[in-house]
Amino acid sequence: MAYRKPGTIGESLARSGVSRRDFLEFCARLMVAAPAGLAIASHFGPEAVAKELAKARRPSVIWLHFQDCTGCTETLLRTSKPDIGTLLFDLISLDYHETVMAASGKQAEAALRDAMTENAGKYVCVVEGSIPTKDHGVYMKLAGRPALEVLQDVAGRAAAVIAIGSCASWGGVPSSGPNPTGAVGVDALLKDKAIVNIPGCPPNPYTFLGVVLQYATNGTLPALDAEKRPLFAFDRYIHDHCPRRAHFDAGRFTREFGDAGHRQGWCLYQMGCKGPITHAGCSTRHFNEIPDVWPIGIGAPCVGCTERTVAFKVPIFEKSEVPTPMPSALYPEIRPETGSVSPVATGIAGTVVGAVLGAAYVAAKRFSKVAGDEAVPGVPLPPSAPAAGKDKGSGSGGKGV
Ligand code: SF4
Repeated sequence: MAYRKPGTIGESLARSGVSRRDFLEFCARLMVAAPAGLAIASHFGPEAVAKELAKARRPSVIWLHFQDCTGCTETLLRTSKPDIGTLLFDLISLDYHETVMAASGKQAEAALRDAMTENAGKYVCVVEGSIPTKDHGVYMKLAGRPALEVLQDVAGRAAAVIAIGSCASWGGVPSSGPNPTGAVGVDALLKDKAIVNIPGCPPNPYTFLGVVLQYATNGTLPALDAEKRPLFAFDRYIHDHCPRRAHFDAGRFTREFGDAGHRQGWCLYQMGCKGPITHAGCSTRHFNEIPDVWPIGIGAPCVGCTERTVAFKVPIFEKSEVPTPMPSALYPEIRPETGSVSPVATGIAGTVVGAVLGAAYVAAKRFSKVAGDEAVPGVPLPPSAPAAGKDKGSGSGGKGV
């Protein structure tokens, strides 16, 4: 992976023959993944997003691997429509990435040096995996240097740092007790840098691309929450939009894996599901673009991997508190407030009801086939209307319409 000067995204797409259809499809998916809060996705349609993106320069990205399982890279490469594994190389200039680069040894070290020199102060540093800090970071070395030192060096000269996955965000699996290597996340070590945490085990690839592409198009990062997570992707609980929510509300719970409730897709709360305390968009943004490919979708309780204090800290099957037993405040009220009705509201309601009854009366009069019939089914006759069916002095009740 020799260093190449990053041109615009549009030039790169044209050079590698990515079809307009594929690119528009990607832009549409980006808009779905980030319905609010991501500047690049806030245009009126995929065409407008595509136009804006095509003009942007491909951001130089240097991707570091520390204590990780490479699952975050895998999730990025495994998206399928369009194949982001391919598209990725046109959207960003991935100048150093140990898993996908062909270079190794001295060549890889040179690629890292070149990318850092050419784009000093402008590149995005992506970190995957936690950083061992115990015993001066001796438990992990790259090219003879402790991971700790590599991070300080590469991230120190970056414009922004993205910690991708739960391990890079706050330690993840390697930091779970007894944490023999003293593993921590990026924000525990870099205090003066702009850091975006994209936790998840694995994280959603569209969240990552959304953040990088916003930076590429206007040089800004999206709004973050208190945990430095992009609000556009972490602003709601999984429980708020879970497809099993109706079962939760109705008290239908899976009690055992494989029981009748589990087979019928009932709520997994009793199995330790952490959806009620986990901020993430997994319930609406599934993985690999395949419907229901996410933990709860395949019958496994959420483990809360996007929460600093939940995953790898709270036992998987331990039940969580439910802070929001009612539907999200974003939904319309299901039990409207009751109270006194103002005289003005009563007057308006009376006028509307009167108009409806009057219209029904006129309609009945116009369309009835019975001579002199004034009756409207279910509506009492107005006081001034003649009784229905009183033709030729029969004296019988009306037949109605
Ligand atoms: S407890 Fe879990 S499975 Fe049940 S509705 Fe909430 S998020 Fe879905």
